[in-house]
This record gives sequence, C-alpha cells and structure tokens, in this order.
Amino acid sequence: MIYFDNSATTPCLKKAAEIASEYMTEKYFNPAAAYAASVQTERDVSAARANIASLLQAEPSEVFFTSCGTESNNTALMGSLAAMHGRGRVIVSAVEHPSVYEAAIELRERGWDVQFAPVDMTGKVLLPELASLLTPDTRLVSIMHVNNESGAVNAIDDIYALMKRNVPGALLHVDGVQAFMKEAPVRCDMYSVSGHKLHAPKGVGALLVRKPVRVKPYLMGGGQESGMRSGTTNVPGIMAFSAAVSDFAEHREEYLDAMRGVKLRLYSNLSRIRDVRLNGPEPDKGAPHILNMSFMGVRGEVLLNALSEKGLYVSTGSACAAHKRGKNRILNAMGITGDRQDGAIRFSFSHFNTVQEADLAAQLIEEQVSLLRRFRRR
Ligand code: PLP
Repeated sequence: MIYFDNSATTPCLKKAAEIASEYMTEKYFNPAAAYAASVQTERDVSAARANIASLLQAEPSEVFFTSCGTESNNTALMGSLAAMHGRGRVIVSAVEHPSVYEAAIELRERGWDVQFAPVDMTGKVLLPELASLLTPDTRLVSIMHVNNESGAVNAIDDIYALMKRNVPGALLHVDGVQAFMKEAPVRCDMYSVSGHKLHAPKGVGALLVRKPVRVKPYLMGGGQESGMRSGTTNVPGIMAFSAAVSDFAEHREEYLDAMRGVKLRLYSNLSRIRDVRLNGPEPDKGAPHILNMSFMGVRGEVLLNALSEKGLYVSTGSACAAHKRGKNRILNAMGITGDRQDGAIRFSFSHFNTVQEADLAAQLIEEQVSLLRRFRRR
C-alpha cells in the first residue's frame, strides 16, 4: 500500500498513540478534579499547552485546545464576530476549506457583508485584489496559510502588514491546519491547527487567540480552557498532540526534506506522461507535502478508483462537491475548469513516504492513465 493522502489525515505516530493510551488507561484522571493525581494531570496538560504555544511563538494562555481544525476555524470566525458590536465586512479567500467557507456563508445569512478574495492560478490570494476589498468597516479577514488542494503558501505576513496599515481595527484569522510545523509561524490574531494532520490522533486541535482579541465561547458549561471551550479536557488527545509536534520539531528539517524529496521525484516522474498539467505553484515553491496534477482526458474519480484497487491512495480534492463535474469550488476559483478540473488528482505526503514509493506510484499512474485514455477513445 502506498499512502499519498496525508492532507486528508496522517498515520498516528506510535509514540503518540502510546502516550494517548497511557492517559486513557493509567493517567485517566480529570484534570479539573482536586486530588493529587488530577493536579498532576492538569500540570501535564499545561506542559503540553506550553509546548504547542512555543512552537506557535505564542504565550500558553493564548492557546486553547479544541476537537479539530473545523472547530478552531468555526470558533475563530463565529466567536470573534459574536464578541463584536454591530455588523460590518468579513473577507475570506475564495479557496478556504469548508470549515471557513461555510461559516462565512452562515455569517452572510446573519447580516454580515461577506466578500470572497480572489486567488491566482496557483491558489494564492491576490494581494492588490484583497487590498481593494478592505473597507473601513472590515472586521475580520480569514485567509488560509497553506491551501490544502494546491499547496500554495499565502504571504500571511504581508497580508497582516497590509491590514495593519489599512484597517488596523480588523482581525486576521489564519487557517494553519496544513501549515503548522511545515511553514514558519506568521503574524496574525488567530491561528487554527489540527492534530491528525501532524501524526496525532483525530479529535484534537487548537486555536491560538492573540491577546487582547476577544472570542465568545462556542461551548458553554464547566468553564474548561479558561472558559473558552467547556467540556471535559481531552487529555489523551492533547498529550499525544504535544508528543507528535515535539517529534516533528526535533526532526523538522529531515522530515521536510523527506516530503519535498518525494514530491519532487513524483512530479518529475509524472511530468514524463503526455498531457499532464500542474495545478498549483512550482513544486519547489509550494508547501513540501502537496502536489496537484491533472491527467487530461481522464476522469479523476475513475483514476482514483483504479489506483486504489492497486493499493495507491490519492485524492481528487477535499470538497464533497468535488464529486460533481465542474463543481470543484477550489479549482474553479483558480480558473481550472473543464477537462483539466475533471482530471485533477491531489497527492499529499508525510515523512513516512519514500522516493521508491514515488517511483512505484508514477509507474502505476502511467499504466492506469494510458489504459483509461485508450478506453475513453473507444
Ligand atoms: N482546514 C484545512 C486547510 C484542512 O485541510 C482541513 C482538513 O482537511 C481542515 C481545516 C479541517 O480540519 P479537521 O479535519 O481537523 O476538522
């Protein structure tokens, strides 16, 4: 089996899974309780928070654990605006993940003036166009750090500087789910991350909220996470998340080189196939772990199924709507339509992948593409 769908989820690191298991079976205490074992658990969670905060270049009190990237994104958008008075403009990029995009649609229904910032053909937000959307009543801008379909990396520091110049009162939220640990920390007011994209178990994420930004809690109850997110603390998930990011931090250069190596090798192998197109930035410029290519004359879903039967797992894109022809919102926004959209496949890597896998995968893809093209001509 070759797994090239690491943007969907990554395998949990064994060490992280062992830590989660330890906190489920032996150190299972509720950190909110009063006895010594619970106090120790609370200290362990604090250490995990401090660890993740330091990797985000933030204060521990600015990091709130959530259940996933979706919750972090929803909380950032809905919660920060709920804490403001009145209405105004909200800008999100046209290629945001549904957890931002659908929240923006909901905000529009609630009376906010929601605008979508356009992107170039690689999926990167166009700065002059974004600048022209910034009005004095702009309250929030949400732009993803790394695009999960194309691997485009947005110039977040430039966007932050632009906002501070033009709309100093507005907040910048960044969906960092595909970027955390792979790209350097950026300047923003809120930043979302997710554990399962980084070899932690599913069910844990975090939202960085820079002081003094106010966010109205989404979940109310026992007041955990300093009142930001009630609900009994997910200690196993948090401890495993911390262990997984520590491992990544310790081997960061090696892991990034491994991913980039696999990506470049697969790209150069696939470039030899006739009628292929790159969707996204030049492979050495984009994020190290995402490559999107179109195989003209082939339906992406058909190719995906053929490859999965041979044990190669890839993706045709994240949006549920991607299953309908011409309905891939992200590729449409990038100006990638028709045959090129239909034939798009996303490959995404982790440091567990190897260049041998890239060679084998390319061979399989070449065989299946030529088979499907022959089939189609009949
Ligand atoms: N944001 C981006 C860019 C993503 O790629 C994803 C997941 O694919 C999410 C948010 C949602 O994260 P989660 O699966 O943790 O809810």
